[in-house]
Amino acid sequence: MENTRPTKGTFLGRLGSISIIDHIGATPLVRLNRVPATIGVKAQIYAKLEYFNASGSSKDRIAKRMVESAEQDGRIKPGDTLIEASSGNTRLQKDVPNSHILDQFANPDNPAAHEFGTAEEIWYQSEGKVDAVIAGAGTGGTLTGTARGLRKHKPGIFMVGVDPVGSVLGIPRKSIDEKTEILVEGIGQDFVPDVLDQGAANLWINANNEHSFRFTRQLIREEGLLCGGSSGANVAALAQLVEKHPELNTPDKVIVIVFPDGMRNYLSKFVSNEWMKKNGFPAIAKL
Ligand code: PMP
Repeated sequence: MENTRPTKGTFLGRLGSISIIDHIGATPLVRLNRVPATIGVKAQIYAKLEYFNASGSSKDRIAKRMVESAEQDGRIKPGDTLIEASSGNTRLQKDVPNSHILDQFANPDNPAAHEFGTAEEIWYQSEGKVDAVIAGAGTGGTLTGTARGLRKHKPGIFMVGVDPVGSVLGIPRKSIDEKTEILVEGIGQDFVPDVLDQGAANLWINANNEHSFRFTRQLIREEGLLCGGSSGANVAALAQLVEKHPELNTPDKVIVIVFPDGMRNYLSKFVSNEWMKKNGFPAIAKL
């Protein structure tokens, strides 16, 4: 192989990046070359690799927009404390002076980060050829915002929402399934967040733990995509999508799948064969 020198433009970071914040968004869109064929997929499948964001997840996009927007309209100021909205923290907010909960579950800047970021990027990176997008729902911001943004360009885009078995986010509505433990992190809820527009999805698909982890490990091994479990859930949904909608499974169709984060957060979880065996997936641990 020839030794090639990097040329101007080769680097993402060069003199001129003011801060790491400049490396949120503009994530790569990469074709899946092996896994789709193993499940009978003929459409062109691309992964939007959100683990290339500065701290390794699509969450960077919403954190940046929620903070910048709150700064601009004076809701927060330098020196204030930001508290994550999780159970128990509303108590904490009273105790900590000048603290704020920006609340990703109800903050319109969450879906807006995807409407004006993720969706625009997918549109331009796919050269306007995208026919369908598959996104999992945790807060629902990715699905809702990406649908809003892409429908401005292409009203007929087919949006697939992915909800883990046991969660209540999809349509038709389900009640909480207390017996099913959701082991895939980042997706699924026991309530419907304000930012989620359930009608944003043309179709909701349930993904189970086993299929999600099987596909995640296959993506890591066969595609070299070091993704987290919710990426595998979205690919498990692809397998169901092409069965339910064969019209989307032709070589001219372009389907984009959101890969929300990377595998490094899960080294002691689904990446570990021991963990997989302990949690009831001995067959996958052997793969
Ligand atoms: N996967 C992972 C790993 C996540 O962290 C999240 C965000 N909670 C999602 C999927 C779902 O994203 P959203 O909150 O936009 O629905």
